[in-house]
Amino acid sequence: MFFIIFFGTREVVRDADRPGVGGYQQCPNCGQYAQFRPRSARTWLHVFWLPVVPLGKARPLIECGNCRQRFGAPA
Ligand SMILES: [Zn+2]
Repeated sequence: MFFIIFFGTREVVRDADRPGVGGYQQCPNCGQYAQFRPRSARTWLHVFWLPVVPLGKARPLIECGNCRQRFGAPA
């Protein structure tokens, strides 16, 4: 009997509550005016695809509501 343990790192993106960040603006990727959502990304150590330990700090992002492209944002 033997075990195979899957583990590694992956980036988890979730909605962030940062008033005043994002809003309605032109997207540099798709060129459309769209609502941008504030989100944050953080790298997690995962075991069997379950995030277990956060690594480093959360990275602020904004996401285009049209094409879902993500861009770095001020914190
Ligand atoms: Zn876009």
